[in-house]
Amino acid sequence: LEPQQETESEVIPAVLVIGGGIAGMTAALNLACQGFQVHLVEKETQLGGRLLDLNRLCPTDGEAKGLIEPVIREVQGHERITLHMPATIKGVSGYVGQFQVTVAVEDGERLFDVGVVIVATGADVLQPVGLYGYGRFPNVLTQLELEEHLERGLAEVGRAVLINCVGSRVPERPYCSRVCCMTSLKNATQLKERNPKARIYVLHRDLLTYGVEYERYYRQAMEAGVRFIRYDLQHPPQVVGNGRAEAVVVRDALRGRELHLPVDLVVLTTPLIPRQDNETISHFLKVPIGESGFFLEAHIKLRPVEFATDGIYVCGAARWPADISESISQAYAASSKASIPMRTGMVTAEAITAFCDQALCMGCGTCIITCPYNAIELQALEGGRQVASVNLVQCKGCGSCVAACPNGAMQQRGFTDQQVLRMLEVCVSG
Ligand code: SF4
Ligand code: SF4
Repeated sequence: LEPQQETESEVIPAVLVIGGGIAGMTAALNLACQGFQVHLVEKETQLGGRLLDLNRLCPTDGEAKGLIEPVIREVQGHERITLHMPATIKGVSGYVGQFQVTVAVEDGERLFDVGVVIVATGADVLQPVGLYGYGRFPNVLTQLELEEHLERGLAEVGRAVLINCVGSRVPERPYCSRVCCMTSLKNATQLKERNPKARIYVLHRDLLTYGVEYERYYRQAMEAGVRFIRYDLQHPPQVVGNGRAEAVVVRDALRGRELHLPVDLVVLTTPLIPRQDNETISHFLKVPIGESGFFLEAHIKLRPVEFATDGIYVCGAARWPADISESISQAYAASSKASIPMRTGMVTAEAITAFCDQALCMGCGTCIITCPYNAIELQALEGGRQVASVNLVQCKGCGSCVAACPNGAMQQRGFTDQQVLRMLEVCVSG
């Protein structure tokens, strides 16, 4: 055996927050108020994210603007928050404590260094093109479009059908988007409030109203007269009409009979979907995305707001559909986690790490694909030959690359081939 030493690396007390929605702004403010420098990158021209498109929020029915505007003002006025917007990430290199970031803004590029990164890019909402007459009938809207009409003072609606799970919990998108049942309940209640005589139906496959407040909200909607009908995927509702949607035909799954519901308005409840640029950000940060296209945390229960790669954290709908209170809680969690290395000022790396014998390495890249912590890169030697190089701060000493290397070039300190073989020899010679 040979003595090994843990190495230490300094942490720059600055953070990159990607995304200026409620999660990103909450994380940015939390860290800026603790004294850290924050670089907030937002690709749109204004802060606020999805909340800007909403009218009221459940379960309080308070105005969305009333919640988001003070937060935006606080972010804009904070001396330790530098805003980069509209801007996109062009590159991130380095490792925990020492990330080098390049962002593209309208007038060129900006470069800065940070110690940690928080991904808060949010999610998109599915546009239900071709589903339930959307795009064909002018009175078939999405929930977001209805919110816009409600905000502008939509004329009273006499008969409306809201269809839930449009494009979610289907083979191509099997997940439940979690937030849309409550959106549907909220807007059904809003329509009923504006016209108590209105006939409002919510067609659903299941209703997710978890927690005391949301359950109470559901009961209030029923008491207000909103009607709920369950349908199943084998018999999806049909929107029929001529030039306009005139009725929704649905088979009531509980009573087993078909209903014909005349309508003035059909509203489609569509899920949150991963942002298109998730792939690009995942590539820059070398962090994984899951099979549904959202960012994949290190451990769903034990490490829900961080990636396996040290120094990179995730919160809000970038990780999975989340409502506002969940996004805010996650933002506090991610920013608290992110503050630890910045507060300590130093990260300590493992002593038992991998190293590459460059004479044996043929630069095949197998170890790079294998490493779960993205600790290996190819490096060009003089003459151009590519060999693997391990970043000692990022390496966790898991040994995966050592097992995967076809050439025996990758070795682990304390467990080199020579050391392991010698142990076996001693064992066998007993
Ligand atoms: Fe080199 Fe082995 Fe890595 Fe291939 S797997 S790049 S040979 S260290
Ligand atoms: Fe990556 Fe594990 Fe190899 Fe370190 S030992 S470079 S963490 S695969």
